[in-house]
Amino acid sequence: MRLGIFGAAGEVTGSCTLVETGRIRFLVDCGMFQGGPEARGKNLRALNFGCNVREIDFVLLTHAHIDHSGLLPRLAVLGFRGPIYATPATIALLEVLLPDSAHIQEKENEWQLRHRHRRGKSERGVPAPLYTVAEALSVLKLLRPVAYRETLAAAETVEVCFHDAGHILGSAWLEVTVGGEGRPRRLVFSGDLGMPGRPVLCDPEPVMAEADVLLIESTYGDRRHRSLPETEDEIVAALERTRAAQGNLIIPSFAVGRTQEIIYLLADLARRKRLAPLEVYVDSPMANAATRITLAHPELLDPETRELISWQQAHPEKMKLEFVADAECSKALNEVRSGAVIISASGMCEAGRIKYHLRENLPRSECSVLIAGFQAAGTLGRRLVDGARLVRIFGEPVPVRARIYTVGGLSAHADQAALLGWLRGFRKAPRQSFVVHGEAAASANFAAAIHDQLGWPDVRLPHPGEQFAI
Ligand SMILES: [Zn+2]
Repeated sequence: MRLGIFGAAGEVTGSCTLVETGRIRFLVDCGMFQGGPEARGKNLRALNFGCNVREIDFVLLTHAHIDHSGLLPRLAVLGFRGPIYATPATIALLEVLLPDSAHIQEKENEWQLRHRHRRGKSERGVPAPLYTVAEALSVLKLLRPVAYRETLAAAETVEVCFHDAGHILGSAWLEVTVGGEGRPRRLVFSGDLGMPGRPVLCDPEPVMAEADVLLIESTYGDRRHRSLPETEDEIVAALERTRAAQGNLIIPSFAVGRTQEIIYLLADLARRKRLAPLEVYVDSPMANAATRITLAHPELLDPETRELISWQQAHPEKMKLEFVADAECSKALNEVRSGAVIISASGMCEAGRIKYHLRENLPRSECSVLIAGFQAAGTLGRRLVDGARLVRIFGEPVPVRARIYTVGGLSAHADQAALLGWLRGFRKAPRQSFVVHGEAAASANFAAAIHDQLGWPDVRLPHPGEQFAI
């Protein structure tokens, strides 16, 4: 058996692993590279496995995030026609996320072409989208639902079981058993693991097994998250200060996962009377869709969340929650001068309706911005976190007079202690462990922690494209 790690090695995007065993070939995840100027080239060079993609029998998908799923339409464009197995909630999210990813690329391409025309330049060199909306829609037909804890016979010699990873709705870690000649081998793929004890989703299901091979994520493999009570105190402080100053609180938020978590925290703080009655507007078509999908899967939510949803429905006066649908209503929100909590995307303030809300509210010292997610270098969100006094939005200078709050305790990823806790579920050390999905320093630090604290002998840090005989 051979294992090829083609992405998310020494970085956090582009997750893609090829497993070859006998005549069977399959992928675990097929993610897009994101962030930084090299991402585009990496996406164009990706999916180069040294075999025709038609020879890949199937794909196992851990979850819907684009850095794990975003090259699936490209795989199909290149000729892949096999089944793509994922949980039903992951499929529901992909139906929104993949066409949106294509739409963003098409818009970017149109913008660049227009820009060239205006300057009288030729269209040569303008990168085409990796795939179109039509191509993204057509790959959805290859998706096949698999429930958690159900055994799927993906091929004659390959059995797969999806387990709840507690990272985003529908996320899974995978247990793969490969039979054929000799002793069956068990492979465990962590996908992205959530932080236990956090609202909305269930905790990651523990491993209670042995494995020959393990791939473990390490996004926060070198860190410890702040506790939830500290995060709640920070949110209360930001809201109280903004209310007293008669401004608005703007929360840039990732549409999937983070938005639902923030709605939960605000409702819970209102229920516990730590916050006076609130008016919350969720202004992002993608966040609205993701919230609808979340509410359509109550069986995936933790019991506290189900209880909180009933409370909120019974007490709408304690927290008015409005999902803003059309662009006109979104514009009307710009007229609101005080008392509104506006949650909008994108999470790093680079696109979407959040830019309008920032343009209106950043120049006003009575307003606040609450940053609750990771902000990559070079983004508008990062400039705000770094204390910029002047930013540019839609090409215009915007002074920053609003107070910027950064809350550190919300993360969809387990921290070092939680990752090690999950690994302790293995009855004995896997024969070979690969630390992936982390910046180089985080992965190296985590590999050392596994070695030191768990005493596992064979822990590796793969390079992109590196292949291993198992
Ligand atoms: Zn993820």
